[in-house]
Amino acid sequence: MAALPSHRELYVDGAWIPSTGRGTFPVTDPATEAVLCEVADATPADAERAVAAAAAAFPSWSALTGAQRGAHLLAARDLLAERADRLARIMTQEQGKPLRESRNEIDRCLAFLEWYAGEAKRIYGEVLPVIDPGRRQQVIRRPQGVVLAITPWNFPAMMLARKTATALAAGCTVVAKPAEQTPLTALALFEVFDEAGLPPGTVNLLTTADPAPLGAALLGDRRVRHVTFTGSTAVGKLLAAEAAKRVQHVSLELGGHAPFVVFDDADVDLAVDHLLGLKFKNCGQTCVNPNRIFVHAAVRDDFVKRVTAAAAGLRVGNGFDDETEVGPMIDRDGLEKVEAHVRDAVQQGARVLTGGEAHPGPGFWYAPTVLTGVHAGMRLCREETFGPVTPVLEFEHEDEVTEQANATDYGLVAYVYTGSLARALRMSEALEFGVVGVNDNQPGTLQAPFGGVKESGIGREGGRDGILEFLEPKLVSFGLGPG
Ligand code: ADP
Repeated sequence: MAALPSHRELYVDGAWIPSTGRGTFPVTDPATEAVLCEVADATPADAERAVAAAAAAFPSWSALTGAQRGAHLLAARDLLAERADRLARIMTQEQGKPLRESRNEIDRCLAFLEWYAGEAKRIYGEVLPVIDPGRRQQVIRRPQGVVLAITPWNFPAMMLARKTATALAAGCTVVAKPAEQTPLTALALFEVFDEAGLPPGTVNLLTTADPAPLGAALLGDRRVRHVTFTGSTAVGKLLAAEAAKRVQHVSLELGGHAPFVVFDDADVDLAVDHLLGLKFKNCGQTCVNPNRIFVHAAVRDDFVKRVTAAAAGLRVGNGFDDETEVGPMIDRDGLEKVEAHVRDAVQQGARVLTGGEAHPGPGFWYAPTVLTGVHAGMRLCREETFGPVTPVLEFEHEDEVTEQANATDYGLVAYVYTGSLARALRMSEALEFGVVGVNDNQPGTLQAPFGGVKESGIGREGGRDGILEFLEPKLVSFGLGPG
């Protein structure tokens, strides 16, 4: 039986309401292509209602102490912990990832809610040094106002929980718009926020199948002071251009094209293990996914042999089966993009060592794939493939691989495997990425700033930097007068 949230309406001002247009849209199980249910399709008029509710809630929410806001977040955390299994099931149902991965994602949501409940209490200001005896100055940090959170389908709970927890901790109120492929996880999370007693208007949820007009209406409202977005670089650029018209804050976590560099002095066992742990997670549909695997010529054959054997042995199937290691892709568009990238690579001389083809439907299946003979001119070296494809490139020299690794418009995450401390330092400094994992495939943690450089984004999520994104420094200057 399908795992579904109890509510399929919009959540505005503490109430579940139908869309003003009364429209709905279907949500599909990517493993079967069956329609799971219909959810409300918000219109631009709903944008107005949601922003009005968030703006009305802002004065009282931002006036709470950090500890009081933190207590609300902890109440949400505790209720989410009780509902963890239900949410994980809803996520696997609409997104396809193995249930184990969905459970891990809910654990990450719990951790972020708890972390930012604590950070709410640590919003410090500064007292500036006196350079003029007749004046005293301080900087306080004030929440920006209404935050628009637009989230993707690949981590439908984590992205929403992290953005919402951080903005609320800062004292902002939120209007959230989840991806059209995965509204059910968002609805289930907002059921938790509602039942945990978050005050009406502090968090609002608008689901839609047609994000462009709704996004335009939301960003077109001057009361929205910040848009935090995770998704494609193309949409991120559109949102940034729109936000520029009213000088709204933007934080953008966009695509990645992670290099995974394995030197001949690396612990090859570790590198193989770490690559496999990263590459096929979420069926390769992650922005931290290694998209270009650079392997030193001296260890290449051994490395490729082991990765290929492991990839060929992965069990692809429905995320609800205990045995499943790789689930379906999110939808037909995603599947066709992977097919196009592999076709282009093969036409340009790449060799398929395993996989290289879709599996028959129903459902959107692609075989875990390893390609060699890859070069920079291929589409999969320039664009995000967002699928279970492992393109292997060979190199010999450190400066050559550094240049190639940086030769991308993206700059989110890079991975380096080496046994040399000096090389590790040189590479971590030379790689133009927001996050570098050195012999580490899980560099992103709660307390760390996560985000990209170049076209991978602006701003950071996580840690202290994450909450600063939603705070405005305010200078207060006291003239002491003639006395
Ligand atoms: P992907 O290609 O991985 O689906 P997108 O960037 O298209 O990534 O989607 C990420 C999020 O951005 C989703 O919530 C989607 O609905 C939303 N989105 C897409 N286009 C727009 C738009 N023009 N305005 C506002 N939001 C959008």
